[in-house]
Amino acid sequence: MSEGKKHLYLTRHKGQFFKPCPATREYRCCDYHVLNTGMNCPIDCVYCILQAYLNNPWLSFYVNVDGLLAEIDTVLQDNPEKVYRIGTGEFTDSLAIDRLTVLSRRLVTHIATYENAMLELKTKSAVIENLKDLDHQGRTVIAWSLNSRPVLQKEEIRAATLEERLEAARQCAEWGYKLAFHFDPIIEHEGWEEGYEETIRKLYDSVPADKIVWISMGALRYLPKLKEIGVGRFPGPRM
Ligand code: SF4
Repeated sequence: MSEGKKHLYLTRHKGQFFKPCPATREYRCCDYHVLNTGMNCPIDCVYCILQAYLNNPWLSFYVNVDGLLAEIDTVLQDNPEKVYRIGTGEFTDSLAIDRLTVLSRRLVTHIATYENAMLELKTKSAVIENLKDLDHQGRTVIAWSLNSRPVLQKEEIRAATLEERLEAARQCAEWGYKLAFHFDPIIEHEGWEEGYEETIRKLYDSVPADKIVWISMGALRYLPKLKEIGVGRFPGPRM
């Protein structure tokens, strides 16, 4: 897994790119749609469920982007009455390798042409350069995962700092994008109240509140295998 994060595997995706999120049984589904642009991520979060979920370790990017866009076209054009909320952050970070792939530019401008779609790019990076000067038509939301500082510093290896994420968010707001934030996973730790309060205060000091379209909260997604993997890959007392 650690080696896999240092190797970028470029491949063609042979399956379906665009699908409804399978949701969790017994839960109320939020009707999100997942756009599968690649697998894994160069950041290394101790709690990342992908460590237990993916069946290969490589950081992968699907190069047949034309096929991906064609698949979106078919679905959106066949169902003009339905509004699609689309996210690319299910199996990877939406922007962490965007300097190499420049995928964001194609996705944002493509979604901008559809009135029945909204794209969310979710990240823990501050890689936003490619989002500048795009005609996004307000149809892309740029989202950051946030956490209390101790979690963010200790458990999210190679991710952007809190200040870098918020500065990137401020810049995106200036470029006219809507913003979203995800406190995910919320983790109990010593000083958690002060930690989360500091992050929330910094968030509202950094970005205009009227640009924030949603804030979500999530708990740790725990597959039993994750404990073994986490302890093995990140020894020492962790969460
Ligand atoms: S940024 Fe997201 S996908 Fe990447 S390691 Fe962290 S939790 Fe996993």
